[in-house]
Amino acid sequence: AGFLKIEEGTTNVLVPAENDVKIPTASVSVFYNPEMEMNRDINVAATSVFVGRLAERKGFEKINIRYLDAFSASGIRGLRIANEVGISVVLNDIKPEAVNLIQKNITENNLQNASAVCEDANVLLCREKFAIVDIDPFGTPSPFLDAAAMSATFLLGVTATDTAPLCGAHLKSGMRKYDAVPLNNEFHSEMGLRILLGSIARETAKFDKGIRPLLSHSTRHYVRVYAEILHGAGRADQTLQNLGFLAWCPHCNNRETKNGLAVFMSETCECGSKRKLAGPLWLGPLREEQFCSDVISMLDQMPLNKKEPAKKLVESCKNEADLPFFYDQHMFCEELKISAPPIEPFLEKLRTAGYIATRTHFSGTSFKTDAPIDEIKKKLLE
Ligand code: SAM
Repeated sequence: AGFLKIEEGTTNVLVPAENDVKIPTASVSVFYNPEMEMNRDINVAATSVFVGRLAERKGFEKINIRYLDAFSASGIRGLRIANEVGISVVLNDIKPEAVNLIQKNITENNLQNASAVCEDANVLLCREKFAIVDIDPFGTPSPFLDAAAMSATFLLGVTATDTAPLCGAHLKSGMRKYDAVPLNNEFHSEMGLRILLGSIARETAKFDKGIRPLLSHSTRHYVRVYAEILHGAGRADQTLQNLGFLAWCPHCNNRETKNGLAVFMSETCECGSKRKLAGPLWLGPLREEQFCSDVISMLDQMPLNKKEPAKKLVESCKNEADLPFFYDQHMFCEELKISAPPIEPFLEKLRTAGYIATRTHFSGTSFKTDAPIDEIKKKLLE
């Protein structure tokens, strides 16, 4: 099969020409998905910021920081990190055809700081430690989270494309994969992110490691998390305090969250309806504000094809209130039988009344607030 030379960032990568189709599938010889370019652009910027911090705090030389791209396919993620960030990268794939292509791409880019290996990711992750571990498998990352959590010493990056199990659309599959009960409702995209983060927190805790989410986003058909690894049993215990449960009322949309690994929550809402319970979930912050600011500045300086949408996304993550879970403005407006007012002036009304109120990165019609539901409706009707 022929190859196609594509350019992302400042990196040239050969991908099989058969990938030149709209919907890539797992059946092509070596996988490449152009739809993920923005995810990779943000990954390069986020890794670069993180490596800068690590070099400054620990005095590490860039070349001694090792990054594992555990599911490389053409190698594009890891090649870009080696070329555009300048740290040492190991690119791995279980498929020999993929590893041949990765090798070719390393040579094409003349990269001395990249090497290719052909192993089952779990074997490699169990055997070796890497400062930064990036897992980007087909569908669910769940069979690899245990080994990735064991291997990663400073940063764990996880992409999940199994949004149906994560978001509760495939309930039982989600329960099997993430040891948690999700809910499929208006805020299912945030549900997915918090189910995944909760699972990552529990997997890392086993190894006496905690996590701090530096950036996490749910974008169309995938979820992506950048979790800094914190060392020690104490930090792991503290991290687990961010886990908890949600009780949600499908009738009045009321939500109650409670931290704690096993908490009793009433199934009956104040309105008398039966509530649905979800969890355990990550109820802590989804991102670190300063990290987001630094990633935005980094994106600004880099030559990237998806610079503007990438900046916009990280900006919304940065400005999003630290509250679980978002509301959808259109759902309220339908219930109230009014047409949706412009979202910003509406949020400003809530802020003037003393509440936290922000837009979110999840969708254009979503917002987060600590205002009670009656107050939200009142402001929509004003
Ligand atoms: N990261 C790539 C990118 O950005 O283009 C895409 C990776 S693709 C979604 C998943 C890759 O994982 C495939 O190339 C597949 O051959 C490989 N793979 C599947 N199971 C694996 C395993 N157990 N260990 C290592 N690689 C595996």
